[in-house]
Amino acid sequence: MSSHRQLLYIAIAVAIAIPALTKTDTGQGGAGDVSPAARQLHERAIVVDTHDDTPQRLLFEKGFDIGVRHTNGNIDVPRMREGGLDALFFSIWVPSDVTGPPAVKRSLDLIDSVREAVRTHPNDLVLATTAADIRRAAGEHKIAALMGMEGGHMIDDDLRLLRDYAALGVRYLTLTHFKNNNWADSSTDKPAHNGLTPFGKDVVRELNRLGVMVDISHVADKTFYDALEITKAPVIASHSSCRAISGSPRNMTDDMLRALAKNGGVVMINYEVSFLSEEYRVASDKKSGNVVVQLDAMSKKCGGDEACSTLESARVNREAMEKGELPKVSWEKIIEHIDHAVKVAGADHVGLGSDFDGATMPFGMDDASMMPRITDALLKKGYSSQDVEKILGGNILRVMEQVERVAVGGTRAPSGK
Ligand SMILES: [Zn+2]
Repeated sequence: MSSHRQLLYIAIAVAIAIPALTKTDTGQGGAGDVSPAARQLHERAIVVDTHDDTPQRLLFEKGFDIGVRHTNGNIDVPRMREGGLDALFFSIWVPSDVTGPPAVKRSLDLIDSVREAVRTHPNDLVLATTAADIRRAAGEHKIAALMGMEGGHMIDDDLRLLRDYAALGVRYLTLTHFKNNNWADSSTDKPAHNGLTPFGKDVVRELNRLGVMVDISHVADKTFYDALEITKAPVIASHSSCRAISGSPRNMTDDMLRALAKNGGVVMINYEVSFLSEEYRVASDKKSGNVVVQLDAMSKKCGGDEACSTLESARVNREAMEKGELPKVSWEKIIEHIDHAVKVAGADHVGLGSDFDGATMPFGMDDASMMPRITDALLKKGYSSQDVEKILGGNILRVMEQVERVAVGGTRAPSGK
C-alpha cells in the first residue's frame, strides 16, 4: 500500500472514530464502546427495568431532584435518557421489620413520592399503569414511571389495602421481602408456613382479579410453586438471577426457571453483585455476614434512613472490590445470567430488573446510562435483534398485557394521561 493511501486510510479511520470518542468524552453514559448497530436497536426498542429503589431517595433525601444528574446512585432523568431507559418500576419498599400501620403509612409516603416526582417533571416522566401507557409514553419521548410493591407485609394482612394500593397505581406485589410475613415464606428466612397460607393464596387470586402482577422475587421456593399453582396469569420475578451461577437462595433454580416459562412468566435479571457472582457472594458472606445481615447492620447505622443505608452499602462494597478485599465483579456477569436464563427458560421469558439504587452494581454497569452495553453484548453473542428487543422490554410488556386480560372488573387508577 502506498504511503499516500495509508495516510488516507488513517484519516478515514480517525474520522470514523471521532464521534465515538466525543461520546465518551462528554460522559455519554460511559457506554461509548457500544456499536452503532446496538445503539440503534437500543434506541428503537422499548427498554423496561422492573426494579429500581429510587423512591428511598425521593422520600429520605431532602431536596433530591430526579430531574438533574447526580454523582452518586444509579438513576436520574439525564442518566435514564442516556441509557435509553423507556420505563421503570419504582419499588415501593418498606423493610420487613416495619409492619402494621407504620408500614402502611410508609408505603403511602413512598407512593406519594413517586407520584409527586412525576407531577413535578411533566416533560420527562409520565405515570403509567398499563402496557399501552408504556408504549404511548415511548411515543411521546417520555419515561414511563410505574410502581411495584416489594413485600406482602405492606398490605397489613388486609385485601382492602391491596385494592387501595392498586387504585393508586401499584402494578406488582412481591409476595415477601427478606423475612417471612404472616402468609408467605421468604427465601432468606426459616420456613414458617410451608409456602403460602390460605390467605396468601387469596392474595394471589385478588392480584389476578385486580390486574396486578404476582412477583415471586424474594419468596421461598415452596411459595413460588404454590403461587404458580394458584395464579391464572403469568407471574414475574421482578429482580432475580440464576442460582446455577450464584447460589444465593434469592436466585432461581433451573427447575424454577422452567416452571416460570411454562407459566408464561418472565425472570428479570438482577445486577446485585452477590446475586451475580458466587465468588463474590462467598467472600462477602465470610467477611461481613450474608446480604440480609449486612443490610440490617447498615440500616441501623443510618438510623432507618434507607436511602443512606443502600447508598452506603454500595459504596463500601465497591470500595472493598477496588481495594481487592472482595472479588471484583464486572458487568459482563449480567450477560452470563441472561444467557443462562435464555438457555433454560427461552428468550421469551427473560428481562431486566436491575435493582438500581437498591444494590451494589458491578463495574461497568455503574448506572442506568450504561444499559446499551447489554444490547451490544447480546448482539455480539449472536442474539437476533428480535430476541434482544424481547429481553429489553418486549417480554414484560407481553406479560403485562396478559395480566390485564386476566383481570376482571377494574380498579385501575387513571394513567396520568
Ligand atoms: Zn429486593
